Amino acid sequence: MAKKTKAKATKKNIKHKKGSKYICDACGVVVTVDEPCACDPCGISCCGETMREVCC
Ligand SMILES: [Zn+2]
Ligand SMILES: [Zn+2]
Repeated sequence: MAKKTKAKATKKNIKHKKGSKYICDACGVVVTVDEPCACDPCGISCCGETMREVCC
């Protein structure tokens, strides 16, 4: 039997840099990274969703 593998849309590895801001599209909360982390990958989540980085 052929095994179907569905590739999930994976985002690039997120690494938090100092000063990065992340926003939750669901509730609008914004967090700022004070200390960089070395997680690989790392995601901050809120409301069950991964927060997205705010770009200027
Ligand atoms: Zn939220
Ligand atoms: Zn992390």
